[in-house]
Formats: sequence, C-alpha cells, structure tokens
Amino acid sequence: MRRRKPGPSGIVAAPLETKSQDNARRDNIASVAQGRLKTYETGAPNARRFLDLLSRRITRSLAVSLTACVHCGMCAESCHYFLARPDDPTMTPVYKADQIRRVFKRHLDWTGRVVPWWVKASAPENDEDLNRLKNVVFGACSACRRCTLNCPMGVDTALLVRFTRGLLTELGIVPEGVFNVSRDQWETGNQMAVSEADYLETLEWMRDEVRAELADPTVEIPVDRPDCDVLYTINPREIKFDPRSIAHAAKIFHVAGEKWTLPKWGWDQTNFGLFSGDDRLGAFVAGNVYEAAARLRAGRIVISECGHGYRSTRWEGYDWASRDQTAPTESVVVTLGRYLAEGRIRVDASRNPVPVTFHDSCNIARSGDLVEEPRRVLRQVCLDFREMTPNGRENFCCTGGGGLLSMAEYRPLRLEVARIKADQLRATGAGQVCTMCHNCVDGLADVIRHYKIDMKVVQVLDLVSRALMAPR
Ligand code: SF4
Ligand code: SF4
Repeated sequence: MRRRKPGPSGIVAAPLETKSQDNARRDNIASVAQGRLKTYETGAPNARRFLDLLSRRITRSLAVSLTACVHCGMCAESCHYFLARPDDPTMTPVYKADQIRRVFKRHLDWTGRVVPWWVKASAPENDEDLNRLKNVVFGACSACRRCTLNCPMGVDTALLVRFTRGLLTELGIVPEGVFNVSRDQWETGNQMAVSEADYLETLEWMRDEVRAELADPTVEIPVDRPDCDVLYTINPREIKFDPRSIAHAAKIFHVAGEKWTLPKWGWDQTNFGLFSGDDRLGAFVAGNVYEAAARLRAGRIVISECGHGYRSTRWEGYDWASRDQTAPTESVVVTLGRYLAEGRIRVDASRNPVPVTFHDSCNIARSGDLVEEPRRVLRQVCLDFREMTPNGRENFCCTGGGGLLSMAEYRPLRLEVARIKADQLRATGAGQVCTMCHNCVDGLADVIRHYKIDMKVVQVLDLVSRALMAPR
C-alpha cells in the first residue's frame, strides 16, 4: 500500500472508505441538518461509532501529539482565547487537546484502561458528550497553530482539533454552517454554490471593466485556454462579493504579458475539508484543481489570495488526493514578486501613501511558510509599510480562521477574544491593514467594526493594481 506523506502541518490523509460508507455518512449529515441525530450505518450509537473511527484513523503523528504533552502550560500564553480570558482554564490549548486526549487514553492507551482515574481517561457516552466536544473543537479554537509553534514538546494541538472535527463530521455532528458549506462544495464544486453561468458572466463583466480602465480592447479573461503558463484559481467569494480582485489580477497579468487562464471547472481553490477535518472533501476539491491543470496542460497553478486555499492547494491537497505535484503551485503573491523582480511590471509606490501594516494569515505564514514574499512586494508598492507586533509566524489569528466565520453560534466568543487582535491592529497606527487572504478580510473587517478601529482592510492585489504603471 502506498505510504501517505504528511504535509507541513503533519496532516495525513485518512484511508478512503467504501461508497456505501460514504453514502451513510452523507445521509447522517443530512439528518443532522434536519435537526436530528441518528445512528450510523449498522445502528451503532454515535458514541460507539466515534470510538471506532478514532481507532481506525489514528496515525503516528497524532499519537505523538496525544502522548507527548507534559502539561507544562507553556502553550496557554500563545492562544488568543486564553489571553482574552485569562481566568478561564477551558480556553487553554491543553484543555482543548485534553478533551480528545482523554478519549484516546481510555480507548487506546493501556494507562487509561488500567488506571483511568489516574490519567483522567474517559470516553463519550452519548450525543450530549459529543456535542460538548463539538463546541470545544469547532467553537473555541480557530486552528491557528500558534500554540503548536510554541510547544517545547512539539505537540500539534490544531492537528488534534482537526482530527476530532473530522470524526464528528463523519457522524454529522457539525455546526450547521460547516455542514452547509461542505454540502455546497461537494455538490457544486465550489463552497458558495456559484453557478457556471454566474461565474462566466462575472468574468466577462470584469474583463469589460479592465478593458475600460486600460483603454485596451485586447484585454481578455480567458477560460479553459489550453497550454498556458498560468492556471489561475480563485476563492468563490471573489465571484460573489469581491469581483474587483479578479479584475486586479487580470489587469496585472495583462500588463505582465502573462499567458494565463481560469478553468471552467476546478476553479475553487478554497477547501472546507481543511476546516471540517474531512480528508475526502479535501481530496475532491483539491483534485478538481489538479485535474484542471492536467486537462489544460498548464505550466503552473497560481492560487489567488486565500490562506486556507493556499495551504490546502499548495500543501495538504496533494496528500489528501494522493497525487504527486506535477505543476509548480504558488500563491499569486509569489507570482507578483517574480514579475517585480524580473521587471515585467513597474510600480509607483507614491500611489499608496496611506500607512499599511500586514496581517500574516495563519495558513500562509505559520502553516504555509510564506513570510518574506508578501513583504518584498509591499515594500515596493507602498510608501509607508510598518510591521505589527507580533508578526510573521507569531502573528495572531484574524479570529475567523478554522471556518469560524461560517459558524454563527460561536460569533460572540470569537468577537470577545478578538480583543487581542484589535489591540494589535490599533497599536500599529496604520490606516490600512493588508492581508493575502479573503477569509482574513472578513475576519479583520468584523474585528475592526466591532472594536470601532479607524482602519481599512486591503489585499496585496489591490495595492499592486493601484501602484501599477503602464508598460513602457
Ligand atoms: S501542549 Fe505543549 S506547551 Fe502545552 S501543556 Fe502540553 S507540552 Fe506544554
Ligand atoms: S490552535 Fe490557536 S486557537 Fe486553537 S488552541 Fe491553539 S492557539 Fe488557541
């Protein structure tokens, strides 16, 4: 059997199941959406099924994170939940991880079988216990991995959180928002259920906008053009709510003389499988992108500004889909940096005079390894670029990571703990915060609105487009 290699976060795809198991899982998810939990497959209660899945899916990297914790508490200060609620021990990463750790100990570790009271081992007994677990792993953690980076034992709490989410998702015990978005992505190939007609119409609309802006009728936004150097993939939010970001990219590609295309199918680089812990959804969505690149014989896959989309498509997706990477896969910010370095585009920084700070997305800096690349671009296109503190891999989450923006029931807690992010943003004194993630745009905008901060959220493509000079 082919051995699966973990991605940079240590995530390893779960083994694929049979068609009938898959159908049963989806039926169960549907039943939850209708407000009732039901037994899974052979009539096994959810709690028993949960333990069965746990035993079958445990991997070596998970086992290490489950057993290596020495409960030193050093991770507590990394977590914005705990920093905002320092008197609440249930907000510490170690408490959250312990909720699955105690089940592992009771079910799979000899200490928990022999002396469960000593190692605090226990197993879920009913749906109420599983719902409590759901509220911890979906509701009190944005899977930002800041605690992971700061654990001296290398415990990956976010990996445990995602693993637990995956087990609950399998049973259909998920927040309604996660269910809805996952269903849309399964059924339509994109997480916002954008129809093909809407997709193509929006691209044509943006093409006309760029033609008018550049006074150049030759501008194209090509779809399904074979043998291009760049296959551009986007976040459905760009079609639905922010089509200007597609126009910015089209304008820059045109000026750079890029041979590029979007695919007609496989254009959604976002991936709710990362948030729900469902590796099969992850494989399906990332696989659509890889298949589009192969079908069109694209030279490279370029991912628009999206944190979890970048991590999923660039890193984890190849593992989930059990595919080797055959085309280089990069963020559009890397592409922009290359255009600047090669002189394919020229910019005038004086067109961006408002002070700009940069918010590193967790999935890009901490889990995706892109830290310097956006800074190199921003220093060339802005007059006043200033760092926030902390930054880079140590930056705080926008608070909307881990799919939390889709989970309305956890919004009050999310905004309460966002106080940490609000203080960090305010301290920069910048008028704009730039982020290379559409999810962070919404997360930060929510924080800025809630805490009444005088700051606008922008993206790298916005700033580069504004600074872009006409070709010589
Ligand atoms: S997860 Fe790491 S930092 Fe946190 S308590 Fe355990 S060993 Fe200490
Ligand atoms: S992953 Fe982030 S939100 Fe979750 S426990 Fe760790 S630091 Fe807190």
